[in-house]
Amino acid sequence: MTGLSDSFQRPINYLRISVTDRCNLRCIYCMPAEGVELRPHSDILSYEEIYTVARAAAELGMDKLRITGGEPLVRLGLPRLIEMLAGIEGINDIALTTNGVMLADYAAELKAAGLKRVNVSLDTLKPDRFKRITRGQSELKQVLEGIEAAKRVGLEPVKLNMVVMSGINDDELLDFAAKTIDEDWHIRFIELMPVAGNGDNALRFISATEMRKRLEPLGELEPCLPSAGNGPAKYFRLPNATGTIGFITPVSEHFCFNCNRMRLTADGKLRPCLLSEYEIDLKQPLRDGVSKAGLKKLFKKAVAEKPRQHGLAKGQVPNGRPFSHVGG
Ligand code: SAM
Repeated sequence: MTGLSDSFQRPINYLRISVTDRCNLRCIYCMPAEGVELRPHSDILSYEEIYTVARAAAELGMDKLRITGGEPLVRLGLPRLIEMLAGIEGINDIALTTNGVMLADYAAELKAAGLKRVNVSLDTLKPDRFKRITRGQSELKQVLEGIEAAKRVGLEPVKLNMVVMSGINDDELLDFAAKTIDEDWHIRFIELMPVAGNGDNALRFISATEMRKRLEPLGELEPCLPSAGNGPAKYFRLPNATGTIGFITPVSEHFCFNCNRMRLTADGKLRPCLLSEYEIDLKQPLRDGVSKAGLKKLFKKAVAEKPRQHGLAKGQVPNGRPFSHVGG
């Protein structure tokens, strides 16, 4: 097996697969209130097509997969896809990013299918605020039950992603951090990224430096290693804490030099960078019967086009597709 690397000598071994552009929530930082235009079902890759891409990727040296969306658990039969992917030689790690609303129903089945762990979006611990942030009919209680179910069946470590927004949930930074002291919580505070058509995001931005300042009353943060994976977060621990606190800084301090990712969108585009528009279509070639060698060639072409870094710091915001399409 050969390893893949891009034009800047970054090893590329991690494929994020968006399985749907649908979501059961409408989070204020991710989507406009009216939702986003959805692709017809015929435009969405079938599980067999996703499997074919993942198998070619594994043969090129990609060993780590993450399933995302939209909300991946709204796609019917997701455990079947996990099982198919887990059977691919060379794939060592399969993780899932979910809003957790349906996780309690699926945790055991996902674990049995070969899923290793989950990241759950959790932006507040207040039930009313949860409704406001997600603009949905779902309840915070469902997410908390999902987190517990994931821990119970061993989908661990469960990492909790909080997008921190000024005036919306930043007053909960201390509450979230305090949870890591006695409980096995692994929280990642994420800087709010600008998304097309959502001007409010820029107004609500808080840097990780500011977040750290706000956590000072809880004691000094000691750097530590991640509990699993080698993603972009920088991890810390409060004195004697059981859990960890991570910071993800796409805006204030990009981590592109370390990026090992490619993304497959739900409609079959291979995208080398979340925040740059370049994509290569795999869906049509797949439906035209492309050979495995042909598929690998397209994959390598997309890897070669991976940009050195995104342009957020220069004020460039990709305006083509929402995160729910690309798989945030
Ligand atoms: N539905 C799943 C979920 O909620 O985790 C997966 C898809 S969601 C688009 C993936 C991740 O993107 C979530 O952790 C979410 O918090 C993050 N995200 C979405 N919009 C964001 C933004 N504007 N800034 C920072 N993170 C964002």
